[in-house]
Amino acid sequence: MDAFCYQDDLLVAEQVSLESIAARFGTPTYVYSRAVIETQYDAFAQALAIHPAHLICYAVKANSNLAVLDLLARRGAGFDIVSGGELARVLSVSADPQRIVFSGVAKSAADIVTALDAGILCFNVESEAELERLQTIAAQRGAEAAVSIRVNPDVDAESHPYISTGLRDNKFGVEIGAAGALYAHAATLPNIRVRGIDCHIGSQLTSLTPFVDALDRVLALVDQLRERGIVLEHVDVGGGLGVCYRDEQPPSPQAYAAALLSRLGPRRLSLITEPGRVIVARAGILLTRVEYLKRNGERRFALVDAGMNDLIRPSLYGAWMGIESVRRNARAEPALYDVVGPVCESSDFLGKERLLALTAGDLLAVSGAGAYSFVMSSNYNSRARPAEVMVDRGTAYLVRARESFADLVRGENLLPPDA
Ligand SMILES: *Cc1c(COP(=O)(O)O)cnc(C)c1O
Repeated sequence: MDAFCYQDDLLVAEQVSLESIAARFGTPTYVYSRAVIETQYDAFAQALAIHPAHLICYAVKANSNLAVLDLLARRGAGFDIVSGGELARVLSVSADPQRIVFSGVAKSAADIVTALDAGILCFNVESEAELERLQTIAAQRGAEAAVSIRVNPDVDAESHPYISTGLRDNKFGVEIGAAGALYAHAATLPNIRVRGIDCHIGSQLTSLTPFVDALDRVLALVDQLRERGIVLEHVDVGGGLGVCYRDEQPPSPQAYAAALLSRLGPRRLSLITEPGRVIVARAGILLTRVEYLKRNGERRFALVDAGMNDLIRPSLYGAWMGIESVRRNARAEPALYDVVGPVCESSDFLGKERLLALTAGDLLAVSGAGAYSFVMSSNYNSRARPAEVMVDRGTAYLVRARESFADLVRGENLLPPDA
């Protein structure tokens, strides 16, 4: 579903005009649609419901605003976390610890302690060294740590290299050929309970083939382990299902779930998925205002008030994101613009050579900005981070206030004058 659409010549979010949101909250501002988040989650949940045992652990890193996490927790979602900060966020919206899995290649001892004390469902372990640390900490606390080993199935996700994680020469996971020995070792550790197996091969995948290939390799290992007396309860296939930013045609959640479940066959395994982007990407836009128009040589620039510190995906991955005028401008001539921000870097752009009809002061909406967008924002150039607004059936709620100067310098101190 698309909650962002034109009514006459004005872009609205769930019936609320984006002009009114800009007037009330200023720009740049992220705007999320509650209906899209819930519809996407429900599509996933329904697609998996045919399997008796499944758990959807939303990947918190995609969008960790508390209002987003709260909506998902209320729907019964579990969570995939990668830090103590994310754990604190999901616990603060009353997530069930038994629906939390902890991923990440370099879990700190402090984060492991907190997660163990919280009683999370499973640690997705990424190395032998991490397994030893987990055993030591669990023993000190008289606890038992449930684990999956994240294996690296060596399949090519055919995505951008920065968001592909399943090839052998990559920092993530344990080589699948070495995982059997690590499982055998884990089974001997007194404070470790071997619970499942995990993989995550990358993000923004638009074909089912890599998912299916990875799962087949993982299941072959599950079967080998069973023969050796190590019986796993779940397989966690990670996240990675792509969305349409431009003209991609990713599989639907239904097709994705059907493909995975057909491979599981009669094995009595519960299925964990860790979707992030597919739940929230299309649920958000970034609202920004054109400050100036200018021309340098042959290029035309629209200088807007959102920069790479607010939305880094185009600069970081060369990601293409849609950019549309909030009010269709009949007065201006359409022209090709580079839409660039105020940050002092040439890589500070939101889009290049976009056909837009613009006048200074116009509002623009960058689409597909619900995932990996606000969460990657920074204060570079001492820019306050944008506000975040959630629209719900005709009402706009502020779910994170725009930062102030006080926020920017919080925790900073001068040396004493006599120093
Ligand atoms: C990032 C990540 C996800 C979510 O990926 P999406 O592409 O957003 O679905 C899931 N699991 C792990 C381990 C991740 O690192």
